[in-house]
Amino acid sequence: MAEENDLSIFERIIAGDIPSEKIHEDELAIVIQDINPQAPTHVLLIPKLKIPRLVDADVSHQALLGHLLLLAGKVARQLGCADAFRLVINNGADAGQTVFHLHLHILAGGRFSEGGLVN
Ligand code: AMP
Repeated sequence: MAEENDLSIFERIIAGDIPSEKIHEDELAIVIQDINPQAPTHVLLIPKLKIPRLVDADVSHQALLGHLLLLAGKVARQLGCADAFRLVINNGADAGQTVFHLHLHILAGGRFSEGGLVN
């Protein structure tokens, strides 16, 4: 079990200790290609500040959360998928969260049903 003060894999990516395919960086966040893509386009928006889960965010993170949503739109445009993408946040292990450092998935490049990508 990781200690509370262990660096998350995303903090190590942000620090440059682990390589990543970075497509955007600003003062608050990075955007990288997901290492195990679940759709033709699959990128991760990661705040530089570690908030373990969305539910751990509070009002002090409001501007950061807004920044991430606006960034999602900007990146979707940049990637050419502004008209059809899915934005996903997994919150908690039972919801599929594996990295406990808040991140947003942009998934695109196929057709989605209720459950997920169908082709
Ligand atoms: P989640 O399951 O919502 O916590 O998403 C974690 C995501 O991080 C998964 O889609 C992984 O494929 C991705 N991931 C894990 N390690 C790396 C890495 N080193 N570089 C890029 N993506 C990663």
